[in-house]
Order: sequence, then structure tokens, then C-alpha cells
Amino acid sequence: MALSGTQIFKLLPKTNCGECGVPTCLAFAMALAGGKAELARCRYISEQAKAALTEASAPPIRTVEIGAGAEALKIGGETVLFRHEKSFINKPGLALLLTDAMDEAEIAARVKRFIELRYLRVGQNLKGDLLALKCTTGDPNKFLALLNKVRDTAGAKFILISDQPDILKAGAQALAGFKPLLYAATEANAEAMAAAAKETGCPLTVKAEGLDKLAALTAKLEALGIHDLVLDPGRRQLKRAFEDQVAIRRSALLTKFKPLGFPTIVFPCEMTDDPIQEALYAATFIAKYAGIIVLSDFQGEMLFPLLLARLNIYTDPQRPMVTEPMVYDIGAVNETSPLLVTSNFALTYFIVSGEIESSRIPARLLVVDTEGLSVLTAWAAGKFAGDLIGQAIKRSGVAERMKSRKVVIPGLAAIISGDLEEELGAEWEVLIGPREAAHITPFLKQLCHP
Ligand code: SF4
Repeated sequence: MALSGTQIFKLLPKTNCGECGVPTCLAFAMALAGGKAELARCRYISEQAKAALTEASAPPIRTVEIGAGAEALKIGGETVLFRHEKSFINKPGLALLLTDAMDEAEIAARVKRFIELRYLRVGQNLKGDLLALKCTTGDPNKFLALLNKVRDTAGAKFILISDQPDILKAGAQALAGFKPLLYAATEANAEAMAAAAKETGCPLTVKAEGLDKLAALTAKLEALGIHDLVLDPGRRQLKRAFEDQVAIRRSALLTKFKPLGFPTIVFPCEMTDDPIQEALYAATFIAKYAGIIVLSDFQGEMLFPLLLARLNIYTDPQRPMVTEPMVYDIGAVNETSPLLVTSNFALTYFIVSGEIESSRIPARLLVVDTEGLSVLTAWAAGKFAGDLIGQAIKRSGVAERMKSRKVVIPGLAAIISGDLEEELGAEWEVLIGPREAAHITPFLKQLCHP
């Protein structure tokens, strides 16, 4: 039975150190009881207390991993209905469908798109995650041939789709070490699918028409010792499928109904033949609340907006996006290129680096660790101070690659110039840059080509 906040509090260290992200152990206990925090965020809990708290702190939706090692795709583990309550945790995996009835050229073209359609945004590599490999021929040899063709696809995790447990088992054995998701156990084949999942150690999808049947089937599979489950409520009309997603999430979170406490998989590829409509359906399920979304194909104009929507929805609103603190070379820099400084708030970095790039004047940009704060806020918080920036310049070793000893600081932080000069020493000259990023181009032109 779940513990109350007060019961959990009695098991915590009561030091109120705040390292778990909330100021007191009591606040953490309340968050745990409400399913809004993870036990792992407190590293001071004794093993004994940990064991007692595991049940109470288990996320109401199980986290399921597809793939192996650090690159595994995690789905589920969600603790809130709405992103503004805290944040969504594990972004839904986007899967590209391949069947063993496709010809070589079609498979090769799709795999090529899977590999090449990648986009760098705010320091993150946005891309699809899974190849959904479907046996439509019923021929195990053709299915295994498909698996062998795509098994080395860079960055791919796999879903194996067949209603034949033997075919899925052979597929999972052929992909040993990849830990694919098996699709799907139904009322008709549950025992055999459970045996295949158990033998191969792979997570298993459960498919049933309607939530009552689905819950009965997950309970049955759990009784058979299969716990890594993914839910497919079966319906392929947008309205019904959407309602199912919401009902599953609400049941798991609000009533702690364990048989539906698992991530889900949806198939926009089976809901429409129109690619634009399919993309819209997929966007709906990114918002609410799919764990995996299977698409009929990846096309840039369809995938890119989905990846961006996913990035936005699954960004933690409580944590600023950051860029790695280091010196970035923008353009073909040489020893005479100027050095500019900014904060590691991702948006600031991308605006400033974009302006430098469009000026076409090669420059170095030192990004200082301000814990994700923008320049002015970081300065007010003491994180964009002259001495800290001076130390960052020294640590970076950038001076060894520069002929001049000039550094440009943002106009908004002009007040730190004295402290920075003091930290760097007399050989350095601190220049005050523009207050607005939009004025960087004329500033650089004036600086480099007076
Ligand atoms: Fe208490 Fe642990 Fe949080 Fe520290 S990290 S405040 S000890 S719950």
C-alpha cells in the first residue's frame, strides 16, 4: 500500500540539505507521496529506508527501456498530467515502419532517411529513434533477412511486429543484445508471447480492443512474470485513440490503477493514408501521451516539425537550456580573430553565435558557465562576474591561439570590465561590446576592418 507523506518523511534523513531540488525533507516526502518526485533524487536515504520507500516512490507509469546500454530509449516514467505541473520526463520515441514485403531499394531509401534526417537545435541532435520491423509475409526467413539488412543502422532501436510468437522470438534472438520491443501479446497468444519475452529478456507490447480488456491482459502478463509492458489500446480512429491515451494516463496517475500504469504505443501510420494528416495525428500523440509513435515513413517536412514539437513539450520548464561552457570557433578563425564572451543560456548562445556567423567575420566565442542564466540575470546573481570570466579565459587556454589580448564583453555587463582587467592583468584590453546582439555585426566590422 502506498505510504502517506508523513510516513515517508519519518524514513528520510531530515537534514533539509535541499539537494533533491526542494528545500526540505518534508517537501520531498510530500512530492514522493504525490508521485511528483523520484526517490533517486535523495542520495542520503539508507538502504533500509530505500527498500521501504520503493513501493511508495515507484512512478505510477512504469519506465520501460528499449535497446541496451546508455543509448537505450526510455519511455514512460511520467508523473504528471500536465507539463506545467512539473515536466514530462521521457520523450516519445518516433519509429519508422519497414516491412519484409518491401523491396531492397525501398528499404535502403527509408534507412537512408532514418540516418540522414537529423537536426541540430539548441545543442541537441534531434532525430528519429526506432525502426519498426513488421513481418507482413508470414515468412520467418524474409523477416530475418529484413532484420539482418537493418541491424547495423546507426542509432536505431527496434520494434519487432508479428502476431506469431515464434517469429518474434527468432527475431529477438537474431537481434540479441539490441533488446527490441516485441509487438504484440493479445488475448489469443498471451502465454506464448510471455514465454518469448521471458526467454529473450525483451519488453512486450500488449494489445487489446478497449481499456478493460487491456487491463485484464496486463494483469495476466504480470502474473506470468512479465513487467516491462507497453500498451496498445487497439483503436485506430484519432478521437477514440486520443481518448484512450488520456484515460490511460488519468487512470495511472489519479487512481494509481496499476494494470494501466505502463507507457503506450500508437500507430498514426494505420489511421490515415494522407502524410500530412498522419503528421498531425502524431503531433496530437506527442502532446498526449504516447510513449512510441509509429510513422509510415520519415520525410523531412513531416519529421522536423514533430521533432521540434517533441523538444518543446519535453523540455523541463524549470531548468534553463544550457550550452556547454567552452570556446567556440565561429568561421575560419586565426590568431587575429577577436574573442567575445557570453553566458551559457542556450538561447543567448544561439542568438550571439548566429549574429557572429552572419557578420562573416571569424571570431571566438567564450561561453561561460552561468548555470543557464542570461547575461544580465547572471550578472545580478554574481555568476557573470569579472573574476569568474577572467579565470574561465585562463582555463580555456585560448590566449595561446591569439596574437592580440583583447576580449569583448556584452554591453549589458559593462560594469564588470574593471574586475576582468584586474583578473587578466595589464596585457589584456577589455572592450565593451553592444548591448543588443543585433548590433554585433556592425561592431565586429568596426573592430576588425576600421
Ligand atoms: Fe532531505 Fe534527502 Fe532532500 Fe536532502 S536530498 S532535503 S536529505 S530528502
